[in-house]
Amino acid sequence: MWQVKSVFGPTVQGEGLNAGRPCLFLRLAGCNAWDGRAETRAASACPYCDTDFRGGERLDWAAIAARFAACAPAGNAHLGCVLTGGEPLLQADEDLLARLGAVFAWVDIETNGTRACPPRPANVRISCSPKRISGQPVVVEPDWWKILIPDQEAFLPMALASGRPVLVQPTCPDAGPQGPAYRAALDRCLDLCFRHGCRLSIQVHKVVGVE
Ligand code: SF4
Repeated sequence: MWQVKSVFGPTVQGEGLNAGRPCLFLRLAGCNAWDGRAETRAASACPYCDTDFRGGERLDWAAIAARFAACAPAGNAHLGCVLTGGEPLLQADEDLLARLGAVFAWVDIETNGTRACPPRPANVRISCSPKRISGQPVVVEPDWWKILIPDQEAFLPMALASGRPVLVQPTCPDAGPQGPAYRAALDRCLDLCFRHGCRLSIQVHKVVGVE
């Protein structure tokens, strides 16, 4: 059983190396970077967090699979799954990762990196957007990094030194991907791409207006 916030789709993966690919989302509830309440958001590790991950319901695999079946387009053998949160590695275990890997063509785990990942099939990959959380170092070994600029730029040297792909993504304020603060962050990302070979990540789902 897992505490599930939502299952939805079809949509497109908005971020990371699979950006633009069709997928369903499995959002697990809870996060170790913020308790999700508006009054504590500014003081959290992620004051820009745009996700509601509180609450949800306890579901077993049969119930999760039924939710997937209800929203999956028929006959798409290329459909992926984004396992996200909150922080999905607070709950995701080997059983869940094996089931997702067996059902979907590809699976992205979107994690803040502070929890180790259980054993997983080869088509289940880790996208780590590291967050500075007191007393909780980044321990995961991701398939790629996604560094939020400017808020988490301190992680950039570590990510570049790892030799894995490094995506840089401008922090998106509540108003969406627009405005002078967003533009400045985007320009900083472009500069990092030009100087260090980072890849630009621009939250495709927000640009095209899907969940
Ligand atoms: S780790 Fe992710 S889900 Fe959790 S508070 Fe930070 S941005 Fe939000």
